[in-house]
Amino acid sequence: MSFTAVFLFSSCSSHDSAGLVSCNSQNTEELKIEDNNFEFSPKNGGKTVLDYSVSGIEADKLYDIEFEFTILNDSHFQNDDDIAITVNTKENFDINGKYTYSVPEKHDNTYIIHHIFAADKNGETGFTVSVGTEKNLFYGIIRLKSMKIYDAEECDAIKVLCDKNQEIKFVFNKNDFNDLNAVKLNAQAYLNECVNLKRYLCEFSGVDDVTYIFVFNENISHSGLSGQIIYINHSEIEDLFSQNIEDTTTINNFISLLCHEMSHRFDFDTDFKSTFEYCFDKEFFTVLRQIYALSSCGYKISYDYLGDKEYLSNNIYNYQDFLKEYLLSVDVLNQPQNWKFISNVIKNHSSINKHITDYKKVEMLISETSNEARYNIIDKFGKKKYECVLNHFANCNS
Ligand SMILES: [Zn+2]
Repeated sequence: MSFTAVFLFSSCSSHDSAGLVSCNSQNTEELKIEDNNFEFSPKNGGKTVLDYSVSGIEADKLYDIEFEFTILNDSHFQNDDDIAITVNTKENFDINGKYTYSVPEKHDNTYIIHHIFAADKNGETGFTVSVGTEKNLFYGIIRLKSMKIYDAEECDAIKVLCDKNQEIKFVFNKNDFNDLNAVKLNAQAYLNECVNLKRYLCEFSGVDDVTYIFVFNENISHSGLSGQIIYINHSEIEDLFSQNIEDTTTINNFISLLCHEMSHRFDFDTDFKSTFEYCFDKEFFTVLRQIYALSSCGYKISYDYLGDKEYLSNNIYNYQDFLKEYLLSVDVLNQPQNWKFISNVIKNHSSINKHITDYKKVEMLISETSNEARYNIIDKFGKKKYECVLNHFANCNS
């Protein structure tokens, strides 16, 4: 097994005045670990958090951090079999880092957690380790035996699949990859389809330097979460990968999910710090790009993909119904050449003042699309429905 850096707490020797511990790994990279706690005993069964900062690793590289714990005799969780020890990437390094729940592997009374992260542009990251949750308190002592950081693509416990241009990476626990037949059988085909979808998402937005990392080894409370890393819920992967990918004209839920999470990437600037200027409703634009990419990839999509309930005509705002009316107004699903009206508007968004209200952003989207199409798209849409949309955004102060 090769690794970029290995750090064992017991081998740490030098401390500085701020409590930082410097540890030299076998290939002399230095990791700085704050808060040198080996053993922790949550008071009153509450949640205890250890806090680590890591620096000196390779920028933008994918790593696996491995924590090994033992739960001492007479110690237990409130829900005995539910081992709630979780490693989370800190929010400033991963906007979704706090929403993941680690899946520990058990070996006798030792538990191993693998957590995947990508170092930031400065070769840094940070973690917290939590024990117990509000509904699953911990009583007793847990001993942290070791923490090791591996190059994820070289690590024996991790399986990384990627395309030849390294645009898309799928990251699994190797045991899942080997043991779950559907995953092993279909992962490469799904990855290849993500490469196709990516091409259309980029084309639509006029952006071309996007790469994606999908991590499949964390539990999350949704099916997918999009950010610096796209998390797909570990407990669903067997079902998701079991969906048929052979028939590339019939869309399945997993393709929709993957495309949806990839599309969310374009809500943000490159640093995930701010949302793009046109955005008055992230889901509206995410699903818009998603439908473009899916239909361009050859999937048969009808307007009912956006639901078949009438909201706007009943004076209720619903982003899917609004998007359906918007797409119908230029009829992109029957006249795909009309996508360029919308795509041109989206690509020109950089000229817009970010501080205008959402109400103004809606008006601009409609008027600029009308300019591109050379007719007033509201005439197709219906004034009453449009007023419902405007009223909604008039009441949202942003
Ligand atoms: Zn979404």
